[in-house]
Amino acid sequence: MTALPESTLLVWYCTRCHKSCKVQPPDPEQIACRCTNPVPGLRPTQVTVTHAPKPRPMHALSDEEARLRALGRKGTRVRVTVTFEGEIADAWQWSSAGRRGLDFIVATADGTRHPVDPQQPGLRIEAITDDEENAS
Ligand SMILES: [Zn+2]
Repeated sequence: MTALPESTLLVWYCTRCHKSCKVQPPDPEQIACRCTNPVPGLRPTQVTVTHAPKPRPMHALSDEEARLRALGRKGTRVRVTVTFEGEIADAWQWSSAGRRGLDFIVATADGTRHPVDPQQPGLRIEAITDDEENAS
């Protein structure tokens, strides 16, 4: 636990309400007098104040974080869409227990290799046409 920062203020107390009405260095948080015409005493009082750490502003959730958190409940109906482009780095046919399929490894531009299983529900893998390639 670190010590709270301290500072010394000169405080003038109001002669009417006996609350602080002027501080040096100026600090509006230290002024308690609400008189319309405060009458500061002649001599300031030296006061040491500790500053409680200001509460950190809560890290504001980005819209995306908030959106994802709202999804994180069992039973929420969602649609998962994955779209990325890359090159086929590998592909192989497999057969197992009477089923067969074709699996792909797609390498994205950053060199990461992603296994792609076309059996995954909703997944579609298609060739990028030359036209698309030239347009981008
Ligand atoms: Zn006052």
